[in-house]
Order: sequence, then C-alpha cells, then structure tokens
Amino acid sequence: MTKWVYIFGEGVTDGDATMRNLLGGKGANLAEMARLGLPVPPGFTITTEVCTRFYEDNQQYPEELKGQILAALEAIGKLTGRTFGDAAHPLLLSVRSGARVSMPGMMDTVLNLGLNDEAVAALARESNDERFAYDSYRRFIQMYSDVVLGVDGDFFEEIIEDYKDENDLDLDTDLSAEDWKAVIVSFKAKTAEETGEPFPEDPMEQLWGAVGAVFGSWMLPRAKTYRRLHELPEDWGTAVNVQAMVFGNMGEGSATGVAFSRNPSTGENALYGEFLVNAQGEDVVAGIRTPQDLTEAARIQAGSDKPSLEALMPEVFGEFKDACIKLESHYRDMQDMEFTVERGKLWMLQTRNGKRTLKAALKIAVDLAEQGLISKEEAVKRIDPASLDQLLHPTIAPDAELDELAVGLPASPGAACGEIVFNSDEAEAAKADGRNIILVRVETSPEDIHGMHASEGILTSRGGMTSHAAVVARGMGKPCVAGAGTVRVDMRGETMVADGRSFKKGDLITIDGGSGKVYAGRVQMQQPELSGDFQRLMQWADGVRRLRVRANAETPADVKTALSFGAEGIGLCRTEHMFFDGDRITSVREMILADTLQERRVALDKLLPMQRGDFVEIFDLMEDLPVTIRLLDPPLHEFLPKTDAEIAEVATGMGVDPEDLRERAEELHEFNPMLGNRGCRLLISYPEVAEMQARAIFEAAVEVSRAKGKAVHPEIMVPLVGLKAELDTVKARIEAMAEAVEAETGEKLEFTIGTMIELPRAALLSDDIAQSAEFFSFGTNDLTQTTFGISRDDAGSFLGTYQEKGLLEKDPFVSLDSDGVGALVQMAAEKGRSVRPALKLGICGEHGGDPASIAFCEKTGLDYVSCSPFRVPVARLAAAQAMLAGADSGTL
Ligand code: ADP
Ligand code: MG
Ligand code: MG
Repeated sequence: MTKWVYIFGEGVTDGDATMRNLLGGKGANLAEMARLGLPVPPGFTITTEVCTRFYEDNQQYPEELKGQILAALEAIGKLTGRTFGDAAHPLLLSVRSGARVSMPGMMDTVLNLGLNDEAVAALARESNDERFAYDSYRRFIQMYSDVVLGVDGDFFEEIIEDYKDENDLDLDTDLSAEDWKAVIVSFKAKTAEETGEPFPEDPMEQLWGAVGAVFGSWMLPRAKTYRRLHELPEDWGTAVNVQAMVFGNMGEGSATGVAFSRNPSTGENALYGEFLVNAQGEDVVAGIRTPQDLTEAARIQAGSDKPSLEALMPEVFGEFKDACIKLESHYRDMQDMEFTVERGKLWMLQTRNGKRTLKAALKIAVDLAEQGLISKEEAVKRIDPASLDQLLHPTIAPDAELDELAVGLPASPGAACGEIVFNSDEAEAAKADGRNIILVRVETSPEDIHGMHASEGILTSRGGMTSHAAVVARGMGKPCVAGAGTVRVDMRGETMVADGRSFKKGDLITIDGGSGKVYAGRVQMQQPELSGDFQRLMQWADGVRRLRVRANAETPADVKTALSFGAEGIGLCRTEHMFFDGDRITSVREMILADTLQERRVALDKLLPMQRGDFVEIFDLMEDLPVTIRLLDPPLHEFLPKTDAEIAEVATGMGVDPEDLRERAEELHEFNPMLGNRGCRLLISYPEVAEMQARAIFEAAVEVSRAKGKAVHPEIMVPLVGLKAELDTVKARIEAMAEAVEAETGEKLEFTIGTMIELPRAALLSDDIAQSAEFFSFGTNDLTQTTFGISRDDAGSFLGTYQEKGLLEKDPFVSLDSDGVGALVQMAAEKGRSVRPALKLGICGEHGGDPASIAFCEKTGLDYVSCSPFRVPVARLAAAQAMLAGADSGTL
C-alpha cells in the first residue's frame, strides 16, 4: 500500500529533510525539526504524489488516502489530548500548502480549522477567554470563505467596518466577544449568499475543502505563470501540511514572529527578526500593527521604545535562540524561521534556508567556513557565479531619488551617468575634454567601437540581448540598456524623446544596465566594493580550480581591469580594435584600398609604430603572463569608407582621385562579408599585413624584454583557418619576420604560433592542423555561427521564437551548445592532442565567461578560458565549481 500521509510530532515522525520532493520543503523541514527534538505542533503531510495522482486521475484522490488521514488525525489527537470534531476538547488545525520550492501563487494558509458553533464554545471554556475564541472563529470563517470558497475578502472587512461604525468602535481590539458573535452571524450570512450554501459546520467537510483547495491552487493561472517563469515542472505537485493549531493570540503572554539566524541583507552573524504580542499568523507581515524587534541590540539600534522579545519574554527568547543555533548548525546554513508563543510556550512552525543579498551570501559563506560549519569548497559552491556581476560595477544607490524615463533590456550590468551624445566621434571628442558621456543610438555598429569605449554607458532604442551594442558593451564591461523601444531617437536632430519629454545633446541621463531602466538627470550611485569576504572566497576558488582564466583585452585600460580582477593572461588580444582608434582607421583604409604593393607599404609603415606601441604597453603590463595576439581578422567591409567625407579623407591621404577610390571600394564589396575575405584569407591576400603585425609584435617583445631583463613570450594566433596550408602560409611569413628581427636586433625571440578553431573544417581536420599549430583557441562565437549556419547579427528575429517554442533551450551564442558545437570542440581537442600531446587549448568566445560553458570546458580538459575582463571573477568561481562538480560526480 502506498504511503500517502507522513506524520510529524514528538516520537512519531515518519519523514525527514531529505524527503523534500515527496513532502515539499515545508513538510520535510517540519519533520526534521520534530526529529531534532524542537517543539513543533504535531501534524501530517499529504505527499506531492497525491497531487500528481489527483491530476492524472481525473481529480480523484487515491482510495487509501481517507483512511490514512483519519489514522493520522488520531495520532495527533493522542499527542495533543484532543479529538478532531469533538465538542468538548476539539482539535483545531492549520492547513498549509508546501511545494518543493517556496512558490508564491499557492494557497494561503487556513488557520483555526475545525471551529464551528460548538467547538468555539469549548475553545472559550478551555482558554478561559471568550473574546479570543470568537475572534479566532471569525478569523477562520473569513479565511476559509476567502481562500477555500472564493468569497471576496473585502466583503468581510466591510462587515467589520460597518459594525464598528454602527457601534462607535475604533479598533479591532475594541470588539468584545459579543461583538464578534454578531459579526460572525453576518459573515456566515454573506458566505451563504455568495456561495448559495451554508457555511460548512462539519469539521471533516472543512478539512476536505481546505485540502482540495491546496491541490486546486497548484493549477491556478498565477501558479502556472510562476512555474513557467521559473522553469518549474508541473508534475512536481504540492504537498499539504495539516497541523495542530497553537495560538499566538491567547493574550499578552502569547506572540508570533519571524526570524533569520543571521542578517539577510548584511550577513552579520546576529539574530534578526520581528514579532507581535497577542497576534496570529501573518499579522506580522500584514503591516496592520508595527512589529517589535527580537533582540535588545536591534531595538536599541532601531531606536524603538517597544520592548524586544529578549526583554519581554527572556526565557522564551533564550529557548528560541538555542533553537536557531541548533537549526543553523544542523542545516549548515542561515535559517529563515517562523514561531509562535502560546502562553509562554515556544512553538517552531517553519524553517528553511533564508534568502539573502549577494553581499550577505558572501559573508555568510565565508563566516560559516571559518566557523568550521562548512568546508571552504562548500563555501565556494554556495555562491552563484553569475550573481557576482552585481558587485563588479557601480550601481544605483538604494536611497537614490529616481525619475524614470523608460525601460529597455538589461543588456550589460552597472549604472552610468553622463551627457547624451548621438555619434561616436563626438563621444570620443567629449571624452577627450574630460566629460562623461552616454552614447545614445538607434543601434550601434562596429564603427561605433571608439564611441562606445569613450562612453560611460550605451543606450539603444533597437536591438536585443545579443545585438551589437549588447555584446560589445558586455565585452567592455560598460553598462548598456538596449532596445528601449519607447525612447524615440532622432539621430539627425540630435534629440531623444522619452516619457513625453524631449532631451537634447548634452542633457544628463542615467542608465541602469542591470535593470534596463533609464532615468532623467544624475542619479546617486555606489561604487563596486571588492570586500574582504569576496576576495577571500575568490582565493578559495583559486585554490580549487584547474582551469586557468584569461581575459579578452587589448586596450591598456581593459588589461589593467583584467589584472585587477585576477586574469592569468590574455587569451585574445584583437588587433583590429586597435585599428579603429582615432586616425588609424584612415591609414588602415589606405592600406586596404591601395592598388599597388608600394602604396600598401606606405600605409603599413604608418601603422607599424602604432601597433608596436600597443604591444609594448600590453607586454609591459602583463609582465610574464601569457598574451595571445590574434592577427587581423574582421570582414573587410568594417574598414571600408562609407561616407563621401571618409572617402575624401582617405583619397587625400593617398594622393589619389576620390572617384577612383570609390570604385575600388565598390570592387571590394562583398555579399556575405562574414564568410568573405577575412581572417587568414586577408593575411594571405595581403601578406604584408601579417608581416607588419609580426614585426610590431617581435620588436615590442625585444623592447620590453630588454627593458625588464626577462623574456616576453607572445603567442601569435592566426584566425579563421580551415586548411593546414593556410596556417602554413601565414606561419612562414611570421617565422621569416622573426628571423629578420633576430638578425636586426641580435636577440633570440621566444614565441609560439597557433590557430583559432572556429570553422567546422578546422575542427574536423584538427589533427592535421595541430602538426603546424602549437596551440588552439576555440573561437566559439564564429564556430557557433558556422556550425549552426546562423549569423549572430541576424539571429534576433528567430532565436527568441525558438526558445519560446522550446526548440532551443538556451541562446547558443550565450551558452555553448554542448551537443553540437561542443562535439566539435571535444573532437578537435582529442585529435589535436593525439598528434601534439602538449597542445595548449583554450576558448575565447563570449562563452568563456558563461558558467555552464565553463563547466563544459572543464569536462573537456581545456587549459584555460578567456572572457571579458569584467567576467574574470565570474569565470574563476565557475571554474572552481566545475572542478568541484566533477569531483562530486566521480568523473575526476
Ligand atoms: P507561508 O507559506 O505563506 O509562509 P505558512 O504555512 O507558513 O504560510 O503559514 C503562515 C503563518 O500561519 C505562519 O507563519 C504561522 O504564523 C501561521 N501558522 C501556520 N500553521 C500554524 C499552526 N499550526 N499554529 C499556529 N499558527 C500557524
Ligand atoms: Mg503566505
Ligand atoms: Mg511560512
């Protein structure tokens, strides 16, 4: 026979905390508390399986359920010395819902169930408090009618208000037993009128009604919505907890309250909570009366003149404090508890692991580990890596005054304030003048990189979470609100309209990339604080992880940020970003549009010293940490001049006719630049470019190693290789250049040459390619594009639908598609190492900062991940957790 009902109470407890799936969170923890010997009113839990069964079985209860409930009621009766439905010593019950995870939208608790005209008289006699008894009875009718019978709760509040008016009474507490009796008559009449049936007097009917309502609430639209939003499966079902009542409203010696074993917003190790004297149920959180502090310390700090529980009921307080300590060390985590005091006796009604802010989470994890309650590894496991993002950017101050203008997508976290500017050149100029800028555009393109760099934050009116603005901003660690559709941007008129108000160039706004909100004016902010606890936990994570963490960085500012966040190298230094800076773009355009080798060399000669300077700066900052430099990669069209002014500028620089130049630019036009002349193809079409870049790298290496007296080891990476021959062709140029620089300087160069694996062909033939490559870096952005055949820039219009319809679980550009793209990565890693066992393997796509993708990299045995500087701490923690998860599952 299936066991559908589990009893808890002194000496009779069936369940325990491990049975959360079957008993729900609340039920499992009530059982566990009873087992620990804590004072828990006895009761029983109807399992989640009954709920699942109920819905599978055409809303029928399993046959044995009734008998099991009756047996459980009898067991509770024995423990309490009462009988359910008895006229002399009635057992009164609470009926509480409880799914596996706490779930708003489920049925509210019904208290005082079992009361009727007879039982209320017994309650009055037994408590020697008639007023209390009738107050409890009216509360029951009110709750039951509302929650179970669906009668609007406002009716009852109206009846009470009318009664008070007619009888010249002010507060609920002014109502006597006789008053409540009169109110009860009106309550029952109202319920009968609304439901067409008399209020149920039979306790058994009341119980089945409440149990049915809990199961019914599992399928209410609000519960369904919550499950959909939080991806909780329907077949989990909810449990029902039926428990003997204890009364916090039995006069001045009674109370009810809620508590956290530590402060949930700061993490401070001090009992924290509130209570109310002579109150029941949710009175504390309902806000009708102002609750009192639990401890004297909290009372003094709050400057309250209402006594604390510690002062008011020292013995109960002492017992409760001991219970908190016991529960916390038992669950080895901060607890969130509910309790009631009935005439000086403490009762524990609920415990669960408490919700907390990230700041508190860090402090609590570190403190628990230092107290020896949990291991350092456990502390490392308890922090969600993605949540660290919050700590790494300035944020809106909690008490800031806000004038909200619009809401867009929270594309890149952090808050930023500045003057609005509508184009990138102006942003750059304003930055040079020392002004703070928010770049506002309909959308951004690769040519806005310098403007984005110069801005404090970016606001776009169009585009999704993977739009250019969003991806680049995240990479730069700049706050970004994308796709704020209600903001009208007029690029020509240099104005924007939001919330019916018009803003012009130079006006101040603040954006919050964590919430997607846009505010008028300057909003007060707080700076990121890498607190002691945070650093401590990161050190512990570093002690655990195997994967190295590098950063994708090319500007000195990014490199410094990466280092300060603990990057152990640069996994991707994109040289093209250096080409967009300032005047350089003109030289790059001259180089690309050159008709002859001679012309091209002239342009390259202008670029060489700039590139060398960049590398000197980076090598200098990175000391002896590895730096992977990728040779020129992006599609040509990103460099081509577009406007007449741009063409004229380049033409002047080259001394050619603008018309000829325009023709040349048109010749270079490509239909699908993403798959066009880019990456190593460009380096093969224009070998001088590879030579110039190699020379810049080598000369910088010589300069820095001479200055520091120690060798620099650049790793030179050739992008978009599909054929071994491509790599060999470029590699020959690089090696020849190395020989030349060695001959010129008399220094011996130490460097490696490797390749990106970002095309399926490269992955398929990686054993071949590994014969020439000394390292692989998986460029998973392009590898995802080319494996799926989906252009990332165009994916917005359909990938969202795919996710909604469940065709794809996650956006593969955010979280690595481990089945498909991952299979290629894994194969390439294996094949590559089969010919070159020491082959160094890393990943440098957006995925390098995504915890799930990092777990994949750990499993696949890569050497490092490389991510944007601001995600380095996220990656360090995720790498540690991936290592620990592997150890737990026995794969290590
Ligand atoms: P929630 O899931 O909303 O926290 P609970 O089931 O915990 O709902 O019930 C809410 C409140 O009802 C509790 O905090 C407690 O004050 C009161 N309550 C529940 N069960 C009992 C009981 N057996 N005796 C007295 N009060 C109870
Ligand atoms: Mg509630
Ligand atoms: Mg509760």
